[in-house]
Amino acid sequence: MADVAFQIKVPSDNDGFITLQCPFCDDRFKLTVEDFQREDIIEIFCPYCGLRDQHNQFLRDEVIEQAQIIASNYAKSLLNQWVKDLEKSTKRNKFVNFKAGKLPKLEAEKILFEQEELEITTLVCCQVTVKTRPLNKVIGVYCPCCGVR
Ligand SMILES: [Zn+2]
Ligand SMILES: [Zn+2]
Repeated sequence: MADVAFQIKVPSDNDGFITLQCPFCDDRFKLTVEDFQREDIIEIFCPYCGLRDQHNQFLRDEVIEQAQIIASNYAKSLLNQWVKDLEKSTKRNKFVNFKAGKLPKLEAEKILFEQEELEITTLVCCQVTVKTRPLNKVIGVYCPCCGVR
């Protein structure tokens, strides 16, 4: 079977930030799309707990759910198409007759949106801007790029 690439649209907020979720403390913060895609940032440090992991570990729950819905819809639509084709191709066949039963329904994709009010902090060490909870702007955050607080 051929590889299929799914595209998931992750919306950014008005300032061009996307929401990320720490796999360790589940807290949310935002990075700019450019910083998230920077090649010198191989792993991201959570600005709250300072632990680090790979980029894809920081995708928030809704994005992962969305990916699962899209993948399962794709599988269902392939199956539906296959069943319809089979039905059509056996229509005039005297020996084999195939009638499709109930086809699986596709699941509605979720609407992803940005809701949190977070404050922008610029980390001079790596020139990274991060959005965190207002309190953390006061007490300090770990740099998502080098982990220094
Ligand atoms: Zn964390
Ligand atoms: Zn840094």
